[in-house]
Amino acid sequence: MSEVVRYERRGPVALVTMNRPRYRNAQNSAMTYALDDAFTRAVDDDEVAVIVLAGAGDHFSAGHDIGTPGRDADTSFPRRAVTWWDHTSRTGADRRYARESEVYLGMCRRWRDIPKPAVAMVQGACVAGGLMLAWVCDLIVAAEDAFFADPVLRMGIPGVEYFAHPWMLGPRFAREVLFTGDRFGARRAYEIGMVNRIVPRAALETETLALAARIAEMPPFGLALAKRAVNQCEDQMGLRAGMDGVFGLHHVAHSHNAEVSADPLAGLDAKAMKRAAG
Ligand code: ZN
Repeated sequence: MSEVVRYERRGPVALVTMNRPRYRNAQNSAMTYALDDAFTRAVDDDEVAVIVLAGAGDHFSAGHDIGTPGRDADTSFPRRAVTWWDHTSRTGADRRYARESEVYLGMCRRWRDIPKPAVAMVQGACVAGGLMLAWVCDLIVAAEDAFFADPVLRMGIPGVEYFAHPWMLGPRFAREVLFTGDRFGARRAYEIGMVNRIVPRAALETETLALAARIAEMPPFGLALAKRAVNQCEDQMGLRAGMDGVFGLHHVAHSHNAEVSADPLAGLDAKAMKRAAG
């Protein structure tokens, strides 16, 4: 079995690649912890100034793993975010809240706050949990074929766990994205300021690495401070507190689904979600 995350050094850039292309890089816990290892390695390597997060194959990420043979939601991993306890011995909302606090909200926040700039390099699908991975990066470079969506309202859930939608999309477009579940393309993402650059698919890697190399010329401590400055201001604009509140609503939805249908995802698996998206 190949590694679920690849790590390569390209000069001052650490290229971190999600590597489950057969499953459109669906994020299972194994991938979550491999990503965390890769980011930690990049932070600890003094030769690395900038991190690029990529997805192998035709798609950046189809989101959380809700149905591949490698789904490992019931597996215990040594926790890193540790905002809650291990989920595997628990039941009901206690179990779900614990797991999602760790692997989704906790880990995404942890990655957003790493002290080196990160650039997401996005092609194809960047959907639901995939959006979370792109959003925690400081910059996003999109190929012309990139598309974005958060369709989880089809499961009765008001958006993915890392609820940055109003800040990343603006409140008006965030409502449309959530209420319709529809995809939007790289052009629209650029127009609303969610992505920094659109480049031809064939030039995605060279253009992204060139941008990362330019950033890498800046003083590392200055970069870390600038990153922290923007993150702090974003939090002053309500990002962190808003997300805390919405995480509770997200879990009301999971619990409601489990209560009325015995399934926290309202009976929708990955195939049904894909069919619904057309
Ligand atoms: Zn959830």
